[in-house]
Amino acid sequence: MISELYKSMLSDKSVIRELNEYANDVSAELGPENIFDFSLGNPSVPVPQAFNDRVIELLNTQSSMAVHGYSPSLGIPSVREKIAASLRRRFGLPYTADDIFMTSGAAGALAHAFRLVTSPGDTILTFAPFFPEYRPYVNLSSGAQLRVVPARTSDFQINFDALEEMLTADVQAVLVNTPNNPSGAVYSAQTLRQLADILTAKEKQFGHEIWLISDEPYREIVFDGGETPYVSCFYPRTISCYSYSKSLSLPGERIGYVAVNPHSGVSGLLVNMCGQISRGIGHNCPSSVIQLAVADVCDLTADLSVYETNMNILYDGLTKLGFEIVRPGGTFYMFPKAPEADATAFSKKALKYGLVLVPSDSFGVPGYFRIAYCTDTDKVVRSLDAFERLMKAEY
Ligand code: PLP
Repeated sequence: MISELYKSMLSDKSVIRELNEYANDVSAELGPENIFDFSLGNPSVPVPQAFNDRVIELLNTQSSMAVHGYSPSLGIPSVREKIAASLRRRFGLPYTADDIFMTSGAAGALAHAFRLVTSPGDTILTFAPFFPEYRPYVNLSSGAQLRVVPARTSDFQINFDALEEMLTADVQAVLVNTPNNPSGAVYSAQTLRQLADILTAKEKQFGHEIWLISDEPYREIVFDGGETPYVSCFYPRTISCYSYSKSLSLPGERIGYVAVNPHSGVSGLLVNMCGQISRGIGHNCPSSVIQLAVADVCDLTADLSVYETNMNILYDGLTKLGFEIVRPGGTFYMFPKAPEADATAFSKKALKYGLVLVPSDSFGVPGYFRIAYCTDTDKVVRSLDAFERLMKAEY
């Protein structure tokens, strides 16, 4: 018998993917220059040449087994050591190879993290607005459920009053995403300190550990010359879920890692458990040649500057048109307030002007929309005219 569970999910597909498919169809009809597809977070900048060069060099110089064979189940040891060394240098935590597990992107890392620290009936708490795929990721993992703390819309930092109320004894893990998809907010050090203090106090109160799962694929995309405070530095029971999809523009290569804070006292155990989780879910042994190449460029990023350029153009242009926006501190997303309460109705109107915008409901906040501005600056500039026509005609 076919699975009712997965069949039922067909009627609840990703709004983002569906809008992107729509944009592709319409752009074939109307010409791509007339469509401003801001739906999908697919990085628009090329990978660093050093990555491509290293892949070619590895293919030409290493044995077929080394580049095309199965990797060890926790990842290639030299790769894990290079990543640990980079994290040590950059963030000052004493990581070793034993704290690192190689994954298929952030999605693969999260799939392991949820299973590491939750059991059926447990709750994972996250914060609105959140990446909509967290729902299926959690629902199909360990039997835990996802509960969402309402947004603090003034700046998209954490709504601490709501967190304190919702952090009950069934919560085994708290999931954060900074820099954030979809708001672009970067959690400040003060936010992370306050979060850590609350988690520590609640651990004492409940008599059990609470794990912090930090989803950080946008860690390197920060604006105004700033840096993303490294979540794991604030709380020892942190599982960092990283991906090279965005920083190196490599989403198709499916490569990332889990890094368990060495001060947790159980990082080696958790990393070994990841190997067992992989056996069960089949998310195992990411491509060997990609692991080897990424380890050699793990301190580099693609040229990410276009995202800040696009953000500034959109932020200034849309603010002038009357949109209310919390200025993003990073990522390639912006999350303006829709000019009407029904964000889906707004996004439908926007389609008439060639603007493909994602309504906010699936991000857990009504009345907003997401712009993914990982696209050419020329397109971003031309889109302002479409936004102006939309606002003049419809509002
Ligand atoms: N987490 C967030 C917040 C994302 O935006 C994405 C992808 O867009 C992912 C996780 C999954 O990333 P990956 O492609 O590395 O699996």
